[in-house]
Amino acid sequence: MPAMDKREETARHVCAVLRRAGHRALFAGGCVRDKLLGITPKDFDVATSARVDHILTLFPGALAIGAAFGVITLPIPEGRIEIATFRRDGPYLDGRHPLSVEFVDEREDARRRDFTINAMFLDPESETVLDYVGGREDLRRGIVRAVGDPRRRFEEDYLRMIRGARFAARFDFSLTPDTEAAMRELAPRILHTSAERIREELTLMLTEKGAARAFSLLDRTGLLQHVLPEVSAMKGVQQPPEYHPEGDVFTHTLLMLELLEAPSPTLAWAVLLHDVGKPPTQSLDDRIRFNFHHKVGARMSEAICRRLNMPNAMFDRIVWLVENHMRLADIPEMRESRRKRFVREAGFQELVQLCRIDAMASHRDISVIDWIENYLSQLPPETVRPKPLLSGDDLIAMGYAPGPLFREMLTAVEDAQLEGTLQNTAEARAFVRRHWPPADNRQ
Ligand code: ATP
Ligand code: MG
Repeated sequence: MPAMDKREETARHVCAVLRRAGHRALFAGGCVRDKLLGITPKDFDVATSARVDHILTLFPGALAIGAAFGVITLPIPEGRIEIATFRRDGPYLDGRHPLSVEFVDEREDARRRDFTINAMFLDPESETVLDYVGGREDLRRGIVRAVGDPRRRFEEDYLRMIRGARFAARFDFSLTPDTEAAMRELAPRILHTSAERIREELTLMLTEKGAARAFSLLDRTGLLQHVLPEVSAMKGVQQPPEYHPEGDVFTHTLLMLELLEAPSPTLAWAVLLHDVGKPPTQSLDDRIRFNFHHKVGARMSEAICRRLNMPNAMFDRIVWLVENHMRLADIPEMRESRRKRFVREAGFQELVQLCRIDAMASHRDISVIDWIENYLSQLPPETVRPKPLLSGDDLIAMGYAPGPLFREMLTAVEDAQLEGTLQNTAEARAFVRRHWPPADNRQ
């Protein structure tokens, strides 16, 4: 038997403590599914007959964040374990929050879960799987099936439609015809769900295995055109075959998603959005062109990130990557100072990855990428961000009056330093005096 995961060990301990206190305690949901698939679960969820107040007395370190819904969170060094009381959700008012919860047994708790493969329990003591919804058989056959009537289940919480596509894509499973039909029918209502929840599911889709499959499925079920109409608009947008033998903009984007391997969320989003400016900029001059599509795409990405309530740090990086994705090709011809300023941008490594994938999913010419990798490997890090030769105080000491010109002077000094033409402070001072003779500066 493989060495047991520390998180699993802790989850087993949690169940044992609950059992000793007279409760039923089981592994539940995704971790059971993953164990049956032979995959290491991302996290362990425990479902129990114990009520929240009792759980809190047994685990003093637990946080009562979701206590109203019967869920508490136990922080552990490896992450967290969620401990939830078996429950049945009351009626949903807004396709998101149950009005009330009612505490029940595990059989009922299975019925409130989204898909059969996510609705199983495992008794860690006896190692038996408790499956009240046929999840094991669906897992064996590779099927994503809503628990109960798919239409009703999606109407309770429309986000389940995106989750269905996500699980089908991640495991390369198929949706049952009625589950898929309900998704198609209810797709327009996905926007009744909050932007944050949609964005979180999309980010998971983009960074898990099967991102290309996930977006094909979103497209096929009609969800894409509601969630990301700008991406849906890439379909059928033809490109010049000499650069893009693979096909239209959407096909190219899916190919890129296929090439991702455990990407950062920002890289994955940038891959999805990098050509979002192509549909509105397509023109037919001497050949099909997409003039300034990176600029237009950056503005569109801003709007998309805003709409999805993207966290600020991700927002800025994604937009920067989209805006700069055509600039890498110019690197070999750039002045050294400009190149170094570019290379030291925080997102540069991700940009190189983006452009490599972009090339691999089209013409496959990665000579520029190779040039850059080679350049970076020979670049002493201290020459990229050297210690400044002069400061504003130095300029004042040299007799210059502070003002907007300082920025220009210091930038010029740094440029020359990055070019390698200025080596030390004395040279920098002489350089400044030569370009800005002190007499000019007397005001
Ligand atoms: P992952 O491996 O991506 O974490 P997971 O199956 O563990 O997948 P979670 O979002 O962590 O999914 O949720 C844990 C469990 O809670 C699910 O397996 C499912 O049983 C249930 N669940 C989560 N979200 C919903 C929902 N929107 N509707 C119904 N049940 C849900
Ligand atoms: Mg989970």
